[in-house]
Amino acid sequence: MRLEEKVALITGAGSGIGRETAVLFAAEGADVVAVDIDDAAGEETVKMINGAGSEAIYVHADVSQDAECEKMVRVAEEKFGKLNVLFNNAGISHAQDDDAINTSEDVWDLTMAINVKGVFLGCKYGIPALRRAGGGSIINTASFVAVLGAATPQLAYTASKGAVLSMTRELATIHARENIRVNALCPGPLYTELLMKYLNTEEKRQRRLVHIPMGRFGEAKEMAKAALFLASDDSSFTTGATFLADGGITAAYVTPE
Ligand code: NAD
Repeated sequence: MRLEEKVALITGAGSGIGRETAVLFAAEGADVVAVDIDDAAGEETVKMINGAGSEAIYVHADVSQDAECEKMVRVAEEKFGKLNVLFNNAGISHAQDDDAINTSEDVWDLTMAINVKGVFLGCKYGIPALRRAGGGSIINTASFVAVLGAATPQLAYTASKGAVLSMTRELATIHARENIRVNALCPGPLYTELLMKYLNTEEKRQRRLVHIPMGRFGEAKEMAKAALFLASDDSSFTTGATFLADGGITAAYVTPE
């Protein structure tokens, strides 16, 4: 078990990467604080964990709100006595996110509030808790679009993930001597709700698949395994990393037939 005696807080734990990671971390021995704004989904994740050895609780918190981030970390420490792993994973990809001309200011602001400020606020309250625990691991979910321009416009999302990546590097540098590691998980295109609601026809899916050397979408379960590596001591000398788990999409200039 790679996370025995550890306490992990995961945002966006009601779905996709967050849910799969919550389940995997629990199977690896961690007690889990599952955070989301979708209460039914968050409770469902907890139900999937409880009874299987580790303990999990659900906390409703909108990561774009300062007081709610303070609360999620406080509840984690109150319930489990400490915090060792912080997975800032909640994020949105807005249906009206477009190019510079067509993206509204509201869509821009909301995307930045959740995807960027959410990571900042998670760290604002999570880092003091990790210090109290003697150190720990922070994983911030960015995306392959943080390092690669996409022809399908989603400017606010792309900019937000670039911010997550650069924020991760600075956090890693500042807190390295406190035994706090900070890494960015950069998933490639995944077969999840978040992406498939846009790639909703076979033609659109094939157009994206052409760019992925592996010729398939990733699975949320595969991101959970990458997150487990970054959360555990297996990655003890890894900090500030752009950890790409993307089927090779950022490596390719052209893909094989
Ligand atoms: P998802 O939509 O399946 O899950 C996201 C979860 O976050 C949902 O349960 C949602 O309720 C929750 N959430 C949304 N806003 C929140 C808020 N303000 N506060 C707390 N929780 C909130 O998405 P996913 O595919 O699992 O994505 C997780 C992360 O991975 C996101 O940051 C996303 O940008 C990133 N990502 C996804 C892909 C992909 O292809 N799916 C690719 C690269 C990066």
